[in-house]
Amino acid sequence: TPIGTRTTAAVTAASAKSERRGLMLVLSSPSGAGKSTIARHLMEQDKDIVLSVSVTTRGRRPSEIEGVHYHFIDQETFDRMRDHGDLLEWAQVHGNCYGTPKAPVEKALSSGLDVLFDIDWQGADQVAKAMPQDLVRIFVLPPTMTELAARLERRAEDKPDVIARRLANARGEISHWRDYDYVIINKDLQTSLQKAQAILYAERMKRARTTWLEAFVEELLSEEIESGG
Ligand code: 5GP
Repeated sequence: TPIGTRTTAAVTAASAKSERRGLMLVLSSPSGAGKSTIARHLMEQDKDIVLSVSVTTRGRRPSEIEGVHYHFIDQETFDRMRDHGDLLEWAQVHGNCYGTPKAPVEKALSSGLDVLFDIDWQGADQVAKAMPQDLVRIFVLPPTMTELAARLERRAEDKPDVIARRLANARGEISHWRDYDYVIINKDLQTSLQKAQAILYAERMKRARTTWLEAFVEELLSEEIESGG
């Protein structure tokens, strides 16, 4: 399944299930720690979570698709969206502007879907202030800094100076790890994916999030027990 098949923009079809308010799952990490891969796999294996597609002023990488990985926009459009309050959060990262369009997120949440965010700590911070009760934050760490550098170079989609800048910024990003609810050290992708899934499943079952349980338990207790079973 390509990453773009279930983004917040494609929510209409699923809007029947509103008995549960969706949760917001934020994945943050320094560039190259494997967060995007974990996000993509989570999406592939779970139909109740959609990806929030950010807007960015960064140039498109060869492998990226408009509307799937990002909406690539110019600075003027970005400023207009921000000033109109169209962004749930926004931040400057590695010299470019990134932001989360608000409307698709609200639509997904109110139709009972979970929303996955690939945003940095500044964005996570803003979302935490705006909607604390719906938020679950996961930070992904590389096993070693050497491995992080190697992954950035292996990706080979960015120019050397861009890679150097991202590596230099990594330490600063990692320093925010304490703001997160969960930390995954991404040594092995399969294991990290299982961990992310376990977090998602457990968070969904939190009593405070399952408002439909009231009705379920009421019905359970009012049930006549059939004898002879
Ligand atoms: P990249 O340029 O590698 O796609 O992303 C750079 C960083 O920006 C990543 O850490 C990513 O999580 C973050 N990012 C992407 N979209 C957003 C967004 O909408 N808001 C914020 N705050 N950060 C974002």
